Amino acid sequence: MSDLPHLVQVAVHAPVHSGLGDLLSYASAAPLPPGTLVRVPLGAREVLGVVWDAADAPPAPGVELRAVAGVLEGLAPLDAHWRRLVAFTARYYQRSLGEVALAALPPQLRSLSTEQIARRLRRSSPAPEAAAETIENVVLSAEQESSRAKISSEPGPFLLFGSTGSGKTEVYLRCVQEALAAAPDAQALVMVPEINLTPQLEERFRARFAPHFGAAAVVALHSGMTHAQRLSSWLAAHAGRARIVLGTRMAVFASLPGLRLIVVDEEHDPSYKQQEGARYSARDLALWRGRAQGAKVILGSATPSLESWHASRPATPEDPAGGRYLRLHMPSRIGAGALPRVRRVDMNQQPRRSVLSPPLLAAIAERVARGEQSMLLLNRRGYAPVLHCADCDWKSDCPHCSAHQVFHKLDRTLRCHHCGTTQRVPRACPACGSLDIVPIGRGTEQLEEQLTQLLAPVLRPDGTPARVVRIDADSTRAKGALQSQLAQVHAGEVDVLVGTQMIAKGHDFRRITLVAAVQPDGALFSSDFRAPERLFALLMQAAGRAGRDAAYMAAQGTPCEMWVQTSHPHHPVFEALKRHDYPAFAAQQLQERAAAGLPPFSFQALVRADARTQEVAQGFLRAASEAAQTLPELAQVTLYPPVPLAIQRVANVERAQMLLESPHRTALQRFLAAWQPLLHATRADPAHKGLIRWLIDVDPLAI
Ligand code: ADP
Ligand code: ZN
Ligand code: ZN
Repeated sequence: MSDLPHLVQVAVHAPVHSGLGDLLSYASAAPLPPGTLVRVPLGAREVLGVVWDAADAPPAPGVELRAVAGVLEGLAPLDAHWRRLVAFTARYYQRSLGEVALAALPPQLRSLSTEQIARRLRRSSPAPEAAAETIENVVLSAEQESSRAKISSEPGPFLLFGSTGSGKTEVYLRCVQEALAAAPDAQALVMVPEINLTPQLEERFRARFAPHFGAAAVVALHSGMTHAQRLSSWLAAHAGRARIVLGTRMAVFASLPGLRLIVVDEEHDPSYKQQEGARYSARDLALWRGRAQGAKVILGSATPSLESWHASRPATPEDPAGGRYLRLHMPSRIGAGALPRVRRVDMNQQPRRSVLSPPLLAAIAERVARGEQSMLLLNRRGYAPVLHCADCDWKSDCPHCSAHQVFHKLDRTLRCHHCGTTQRVPRACPACGSLDIVPIGRGTEQLEEQLTQLLAPVLRPDGTPARVVRIDADSTRAKGALQSQLAQVHAGEVDVLVGTQMIAKGHDFRRITLVAAVQPDGALFSSDFRAPERLFALLMQAAGRAGRDAAYMAAQGTPCEMWVQTSHPHHPVFEALKRHDYPAFAAQQLQERAAAGLPPFSFQALVRADARTQEVAQGFLRAASEAAQTLPELAQVTLYPPVPLAIQRVANVERAQMLLESPHRTALQRFLAAWQPLLHATRADPAHKGLIRWLIDVDPLAI
């Protein structure tokens, strides 16, 4: 040991329940500063680890001291900001430090040898000299300019509440530019929900900044990239060569030593919440990181999450807790374009079982004849959600899940969208042999088929037939399929676009004059209290795809329209949509939430348990709940009884959950921290050996 005089604490991803602490102690020949990336032996393997501040957590006692196997040379240590972010995430979301730290690093850092990484580093080019070129700017609208000025002069965080097409992206571009100009090493992080859906955004950032800072200054970071690309982007950000990182939720963990600004576009989008491992909210972490690292944070949306909306209510003498975020309002569309007129079709007055009501069909046909585009939204892929036998009531249930198998007509399959089980469509009822098996309900495939038939007699201005294209998870499975389908729409080769919510998000379509929600009612009566919020956001986003090009709209002279087919035309969601009135909708929802004590007026966590039987899953939760009764930290926390999940069984696994609620975030946090060891102990009790797994979801999005 005399030649290895230094003791270092290393965060590694040790297997869960291995009994090892968060940090492991190793011996090292040289003192290694915190943040150094190392390779260390763990059992029979050698794994990546991060040297941690010894003061952050005591080492696990009684572990034999082994030597650090190697240091990743040439990589600057991860800075204290990054380590604090990781430590906070682990604590807040109740995961181990090592798991969060290692998951936050690009996968290739784990798999490549130190030599291979050294080679990558040598290959990556040095920082390019900034070109002298000045950046060409469009003239901001008055609303944009006022937002920009506020962001420039106030500390934030900001909620940029701007209508679709109000020019939020232009404000982001300008604020990024300003942040980067402040210092030669300044960096900005721009997050979007799903980058594959918005290749235009990346183009806009590149076009704006590459001429000034060099092509290498803008990098992307998302799961659609290869591991090699991700490593390369990560290294560029870590070394400060990349000035702008554009990414999805994972990018919140990028190492950005010069971080000055974080933008979270479409901040309400549920995809900012990670749904496995550490179930973090990238939006919430962005706010935390911004505060901790002294970077400004801009949240942007046309339909903010009710949490952000509530946090940005103005402070008043009666309500001094308001004003945590500064709300910036941009109600007008660029070019004075109008938001679409909302038309509700009362489906109670329409012929029964019609997918498309006659007036909507006529409106679509009219657009086709004028050479304009329409977009139809139906949030269900496949042909029909279930096959049904009229004689014996057989349904196409998945044998492994408490869900139906969906009928896909194009490839004649029945597919479970939960576990993936696929089988051929039976000719006759598997239960009674009847040939009278029929699809019930409708999906995008059926909508596409019927629309194609119904529009067959309608011709475009050049005398050619109407073209219908469907975009959903099925049509875009092949690599590049989504991009080419979107390109078709942009090129005007499509008259009617049919799809799931995939088509509602972010796209800057120029020639769409009609958008329709074919069957949105399902979400109105969901048991999930966030369902109306999500539906409203989706419909507003969808509406935002229509009439984006004011000059085109003026030339065509057609009013742009958003159609909603519903059996509840006077539901508050549709009343607010009709007026494009997000504030009214939010006020109504917040009133309901306040009365029911739901977020943002309370804080929640879920404990989930999976087992072969409901009894075992719920038994574990009940035992954990009993154990919790001994904790003084339970005082301000309500623990509800275990219940099965809405889809109780998936892939033969029974799922149950238990809700926790508290009026205080810190009280909930303190309770979870105190309870965590008891959960582990309950798990270890042989009475619960049938349990497959359990997990905690803090600030869950779906209850
Ligand atoms: P949002 O992100 O709010 O939906 P965008 O930033 O995409 O809006 O702006 C909508 C359209 O208006 C885009 O085509 C954009 O290029 C254009 N635009 C934005 N700001 C301006 C401006 N100040 N002057 C002219 N065009 C603008
Ligand atoms: Zn039958
Ligand atoms: Zn299934």
